[in-house]
Amino acid sequence: LISMLESEQSLPSETSDGQRIRLMINTGLAVEMSGSPVARIDGVGLYRTEVPFMMHQRFPGEQEQARLYREQLAGFAPLPVVMRTLDIGGDKSLPYFPIEEDNAFLGWRGLRVTLDHPEVLMVQLRAMLRAAEGLDNLRILLPMVTTFEEVETVSRLLDRALEELREEGLKVQRPLLGIMIEVPAVIYQLEAFAGCVDFFSVGSNDLTQYLLAVDRGNARVSALYDAFQPAVLRALAQIARDSRRLGVPVSVCGELAGDPVGALLLVGMGYRVLSMNAPNLSRVRAAIRRASLSGVRELVDEALSQESLVQTRALIFERMEAWE
Ligand code: PEP
Ligand code: MG
Repeated sequence: LISMLESEQSLPSETSDGQRIRLMINTGLAVEMSGSPVARIDGVGLYRTEVPFMMHQRFPGEQEQARLYREQLAGFAPLPVVMRTLDIGGDKSLPYFPIEEDNAFLGWRGLRVTLDHPEVLMVQLRAMLRAAEGLDNLRILLPMVTTFEEVETVSRLLDRALEELREEGLKVQRPLLGIMIEVPAVIYQLEAFAGCVDFFSVGSNDLTQYLLAVDRGNARVSALYDAFQPAVLRALAQIARDSRRLGVPVSVCGELAGDPVGALLLVGMGYRVLSMNAPNLSRVRAAIRRASLSGVRELVDEALSQESLVQTRALIFERMEAWE
């Protein structure tokens, strides 16, 4: 089976009735950088910049960051590389910047930290722009966004970083700017966000955690932590629908996109770009190639009308068995 899946890695990721799905990879660790050499991918959908930050003894400087980012950008060019600004707090901390608080997942996390430390954010933005000189594949993604004012603030900082680098003589252009959809509040203000960003990326890991009020790392409540819960599936379907209506490109970069069944549901909801850890590529590609768009759409329609996780899973299992 493995060798069969491997042999499909150079084939296009499209459904049996011809709908192309773009498959991207999540990176952060240097070893994953080039992915599998034969696999067809459409770029990096999520580069978690906190990973290299974790491997340092102190905040890496602008030149050091620029060197790391350049490796990613040049390594994958001309394919797009979506770089997420530092996403620490919650379950991720830096040895040289400890964050200790009760309810860490509801606290000082992601963009909230870097907006309180604009000097850290500015160095990172400048490093990203510097690394992208002469290339046009950089996209910048903001984690843990809650309000559109936060995005406006970053947008101003980005303009300032661009101006500074141009004054230094660099030829840099403004990259596309996007937000993670992982705080449920964002779902109800997509229109406002559509006015200030270029793309959305759904973080299904945190979205699941926050919609269900279930700590994603707590074993006591792990049975509840499930992206197939009816409320999560409905939220995901709504995001796909609203993004399309608003004309904003949307992708999914949480673990759900790397799960073959999850990926098919997302395709049925309307998602056309999925980003996952490289080891999941082959099975997701195989699942997509064996499914039809009409089939997964029907499946999603049925799945969305279920009221329990058990029913939803049973239904999906039953329908998929009939496909084989
Ligand atoms: C997510 O929340 O789904 C996500 C992709 O980001 P992380 O897992 O790094 O929080
Ligand atoms: Mg997240």
